[in-house]
Amino acid sequence: MTEESKTRRKKIQATDLMNKIMADYFYGLNEAATTGKQKVAWCTSVGPAELLRAMGFAVHFPENHAAMLGATRLATDLIPEANAVGYSPDICSYLTSDIGAYLKGFTPLAKAYPGIDSVPKPDVLVYNTNQCRDVQDWFAWYSRQLGVPCMGITSPKNVNEVTDSHIEDVAGQIQALIPVLEQISGNRLDLARSGKRWLCRGSAPNCGRRSWRRPWHRLRH
Ligand code: SF4
Repeated sequence: MTEESKTRRKKIQATDLMNKIMADYFYGLNEAATTGKQKVAWCTSVGPAELLRAMGFAVHFPENHAAMLGATRLATDLIPEANAVGYSPDICSYLTSDIGAYLKGFTPLAKAYPGIDSVPKPDVLVYNTNQCRDVQDWFAWYSRQLGVPCMGITSPKNVNEVTDSHIEDVAGQIQALIPVLEQISGNRLDLARSGKRWLCRGSAPNCGRRSWRRPWHRLRH
């Protein structure tokens, strides 16, 4: 091999910090689930994680777990497990690989983080169909398997102009989740706990215009 053709790997400076952030996150989730110190919610990628964190839940994202299955090249071994219980090979591979991993009792977290044996057992499953409808069926399946409640937000689809009716609809669905989730978490909703980054505080550029952030704004006023 000539000198020019050798691949040189250059370490990305942020790698160590990123690894620590991820390890802290997954060990924190594991501690919450195994000690019961903190309630655990599973959440879809588009949220409403803000709401869950504002009630003190530790939040696990099955889509994140499925991405790990893909990145570790295990998804193709696991998807057939979900196909065997009736899930079509044509639907989302995140869904089928994650359910396949559950059926096989497998998680890449166990290899990456010694001491973690499984994904954190949830106390509640919360979805938002904003990104796709599959997530509702994905979480409903886990609800039946694990015997935990499943609830969520059904977002309006194929919307061009966002109207007040759309905003009222989504805001109403978010608000309806609050008392149920407060009961499960044992904590009152504390929007300040959820952090400035996630919530419209009235000064965001889109505030006052027709934006999907407005349901969060409504919760504050
Ligand atoms: S298709 Fe839906 S469930 Fe699958 S990864 Fe995309 S958003 Fe998540």
